[in-house]
Amino acid sequence: MNTFVVQYSCTIMQELNGISVSPGIAIGKAFLYLDETPNIPRYRVQKHDLEGEFERLGSAIERAVEELENIQSGSASHSSDAPKFLDSHLLMLQDESFIGEIRSQVEQSRFNVEWVLRRNAQKLASKLARSDDEYLRDRSVDIHDVAKRLLDHLMFRERISLADLSSEVILVAHDLLPSDAIAMNKRMIRGIVLDAGGKTSHTAILARSFEIPAVLGLSNISSLVRTGEELIVDGNRGRVVTKPTTQLRERYERLQSEWQRREVQLMGLNDLPAETRDGKLIQLKANIEVPEEVEAVLSHGADGVGLYRSEFLFMRPGPLPDEEEQFAAYSTVLKSMENKPVTIRTLDLGADKIARSLGENDDDNPILGWRAIRLCLSMPELFRTQLRALYRASVYGELRIMFPMISGIEELTQALEMVESVKSDLKREKVTFREDLPVGIMIEVPSAAMTADILARKSDFFSIGTNDLIQYTLAVDRGNEKIAYLYEPFHPGVLRMLKLIIDDAHAKGLSVGMCGEMAGDPMSTVVLLGLGLDEFSMGAVGIPEVKRIIRSVSMAEAEELVGSILEMKSYVEIDEFVAQYMEKNFELKLYES
Ligand code: PEP
Ligand code: MG
Repeated sequence: MNTFVVQYSCTIMQELNGISVSPGIAIGKAFLYLDETPNIPRYRVQKHDLEGEFERLGSAIERAVEELENIQSGSASHSSDAPKFLDSHLLMLQDESFIGEIRSQVEQSRFNVEWVLRRNAQKLASKLARSDDEYLRDRSVDIHDVAKRLLDHLMFRERISLADLSSEVILVAHDLLPSDAIAMNKRMIRGIVLDAGGKTSHTAILARSFEIPAVLGLSNISSLVRTGEELIVDGNRGRVVTKPTTQLRERYERLQSEWQRREVQLMGLNDLPAETRDGKLIQLKANIEVPEEVEAVLSHGADGVGLYRSEFLFMRPGPLPDEEEQFAAYSTVLKSMENKPVTIRTLDLGADKIARSLGENDDDNPILGWRAIRLCLSMPELFRTQLRALYRASVYGELRIMFPMISGIEELTQALEMVESVKSDLKREKVTFREDLPVGIMIEVPSAAMTADILARKSDFFSIGTNDLIQYTLAVDRGNEKIAYLYEPFHPGVLRMLKLIIDDAHAKGLSVGMCGEMAGDPMSTVVLLGLGLDEFSMGAVGIPEVKRIIRSVSMAEAEELVGSILEMKSYVEIDEFVAQYMEKNFELKLYES
């Protein structure tokens, strides 16, 4: 990972508005982290400069070897597996077929060494990633890593890992990959502010999961702030203050204590059910990305896990987790949830959720590309391994399996066939597992929403993934801050679709949950109740506030609200109407300046 310190900054206090994605207030020192894929220079090399080019490569290799040996001999690495990886990286740097090929292509093509190195590494990594052999597939991550290390040395870039942070900071970056966020040392990150990103980007979701106040979509914060400068992150209002005055700092300290007091008050609802005033019992569950979050799930009074995003296990550095490692993670979650239901979603890799071991995704349009269930169905061994681990873990709790990104009955049928084949293998092997696991699907593609009645025949439950459903319905990239204003959960097109899904599923006797971020937004709670949603799943920290609202409304009131807004023509009108309603009845304010 690389960091560049920008050498200019603002000199006076500035208040900047972005998108509030994770609540809370943080005050602290900035740490600027920029890890964009560098712009790799591409230029022709004259014949008489070829020797110089080879020398540059040689000395980058020397420095990379020295660096790896230092890490190996010191205690720099946290991972017990590190020495094994380091060995293979060292071997690769001395591998004549890898390095020799770069030399000969520089000579033939006369392109500079960075360009050739990157191109070769990408080709080789993609080839390995598609191999049937698990060992070879796992090597593709090593190729990326070694190539990156060499490029850093060729281009004199400094490497700093977010896992190595040793003092508390507010992380400032242009953008952050979910794989960076999962690897960072969370105890040291007090707040996150990014130029890029929207409310439902995966980094936003992780920030909420880890209860780190965060403001994204700030456009240029990474060029305004320098490491070490004081920052305030107001995740409630979506505001960031650089170089605050003493007066403003004190004001935010007061707001911070008020916020913490309110959080403690809400936790008083933990042991009470999420039941409307007229007796409808709602399931409030939590979304998790890693097993370590289970503690927060239980301490916020969740009725279960409504979405375990299993792909995060695959996004950590190193080889893909095998059946045993997956089995251990799934059974840990099931055991620690004490027989409360746990919905584990099968792999939803792709788009911004990249498993480096699978190689770079070269889709032109990754959000519409090779991802989620499509990726699993095209890599049957990967899918089979996950299903085996899930079924084996099923004996430890109340497991439910869920497929992501189903777009039609054909995909669902194929996925279910794989389930049956895995079950019969396990039976033959005399492995114990629970046969009757509910298997459901996410409704997050418009075609699935429009055919909910058909899909309901082969599903045990639905969970609506509004993060993707909204992006696909409104054609608005969920991570693009420039068009974040168009990402509108109350767009009449979205509301009608939600109604259709819920009504069709109920007509077939299916329960409907929602695990997109809309489920955890208190501004949407009464609307979703009125639409008939049975289960809400969200970042654990959001549960108490949603419960407070559910407990203070009746279904009749919620249905009346929905009746009114379904008549309206524009989201602006609906937004305003709902905001006023929520403020009047639930003291819920849209945060204002
Ligand atoms: C969704 O799309 O709403 C969802 C919950 O899945 P993810 O955010 O992981 O894409
Ligand atoms: Mg999704």
